Amino acid sequence: MAAELTRRGLFKGLAGGAKTEADRQSASVAQIGEGCVEAKGVSCRRCGEACDADAIHFKPIGGGRNTAFLADTLCNGCGACLSVCPVNAIALISLDRKALVSGLADLRRPA
Ligand code: SF4
Ligand code: SF4
Repeated sequence: MAAELTRRGLFKGLAGGAKTEADRQSASVAQIGEGCVEAKGVSCRRCGEACDADAIHFKPIGGGRNTAFLADTLCNGCGACLSVCPVNAIALISLDRKALVSGLADLRRPA
C-alpha cells in the first residue's frame, strides 16, 4: 500500500536532509508574526498544541495578553503549526532569513 502523503510529512521530508551548517542555515523554521491573537488577549495556543517538537511557548505580557515565542533550535520546519492557526500568523522561512529579520528588528529598537 502506498504511504499517505500529508502536509506534515512533506515538510518533514524537505527539512529532514539538513546536515551541514550551510544546510542548517537554509533549512526552514516557523516564524510567528504580529497577527497572533494571544498578544491581543485572546486565548488560542493551537500552534503550541500542534507542535510535537515542543518548540512553541507562551509568556504573559500583562493585561491578560501573552506573547508566543518559538525555539528555533527545536523547530524542525514540519509545518504542522501553520495549518492550525486561525489567522495565518505563522510562516516558514529559512533560518538565515529569520536571523536577518531579527537583526533588523533589533537595530530599529531604541537603545
Ligand atoms: S514548524 Fe513544526 S516543529 Fe516548527 S514550530 Fe511549527 S509545528 Fe513545531
Ligand atoms: S495558532 Fe496562531 S493565533 Fe493561535 S496562538 Fe498560535 S500563532 Fe497565535
